[in-house]
Amino acid sequence: MIIDCHGHYTTAPKALEQFRKRQIDALKDPALSPARDSMRISDDELRDSLEGAQLRLQRERGTDRTIFSPRAGGMGHHIGNADTSALWSGICNELIHRICTLYPDNFTGVCQLPQSPGVRPDNCIAELERCVTQYGFVGCNLNPDPSGGYWTDPPLTDRWWYPLYERMVALDVPAMVHVSASCNPNFHFTGAHYINADTSAFMQFLTSDLFKDFPTLRFIIPHGGGAVPYHWGRYRGIAQDMGRPPLAELLLNNVFFDTCVYHRPGIELLLRVIPADNILFASEMVGAVRGIDPQTGHHYDDTKRYIDALDWVAAEDREKIFRGNALKVYPRMAQQG
Ligand SMILES: [Zn+2]
Repeated sequence: MIIDCHGHYTTAPKALEQFRKRQIDALKDPALSPARDSMRISDDELRDSLEGAQLRLQRERGTDRTIFSPRAGGMGHHIGNADTSALWSGICNELIHRICTLYPDNFTGVCQLPQSPGVRPDNCIAELERCVTQYGFVGCNLNPDPSGGYWTDPPLTDRWWYPLYERMVALDVPAMVHVSASCNPNFHFTGAHYINADTSAFMQFLTSDLFKDFPTLRFIIPHGGGAVPYHWGRYRGIAQDMGRPPLAELLLNNVFFDTCVYHRPGIELLLRVIPADNILFASEMVGAVRGIDPQTGHHYDDTKRYIDALDWVAAEDREKIFRGNALKVYPRMAQQG
């Protein structure tokens, strides 16, 4: 079985976007706030939105299961307040739950959290708990910058986040570090803001004792770990200069990278530099990059193809990357069978 640990519901029916638009319009006049049950999407519409997209691509590319979450760019934690985010997260997570129920073999759920800039993440605990215990979700997406590009909240290693981490540890669920849209014109969202956040999160972890406080807390840094694998020597050297332990000891029991790197040399570097135990297969399809690479004739995000092409990767490591590590990092998925 091949598990893709990073997929978002990017192909939702228009009714979802329309609900969000009504919700945003109502920020100026709360009387216009749409009722939670005012959005109607049928099971057939859900099926139609997936059959020609994620499900077709799973079949064509030979992957089996996608760890599936609401559209990351749509989380928009900077919009409105904590109540806005609570309603929106609830709606988006419920759709993921319905999809996982319709296609239990193809999708496993991960939730969006109702974060809001300046609001303590304690407010996310109830939604996390609801999604894990009632919906059977196996993790969450945690936005290190709910302001959308202005980084106004404390670093991920601050005690600000600890109550949420305590619950993640108790539930034994990991978080994928995942920002949303950028409202800062300096940072294109998928091209700069995402990669900046991945890199920044890693550096925050490197300089802290977070994993001493939470030895079993786990994070997936997506998009191949941002700039981290490419600059692995820099990070090792910085840790050494700071008198920190070697990176393997400091954080590789807790931090994992996905394979959402959209060319073969990048994947090859990732697999050469980062231990196989810390890499989870992912494509983020249908996502940030949807085109076909004219140099290969294949979709940029068909990441399985790049790994398959590396004949030096041991069979045992390949199995870990495609399946074993996902079951280790998301143990609730392993328990669900
Ligand atoms: Zn993503």
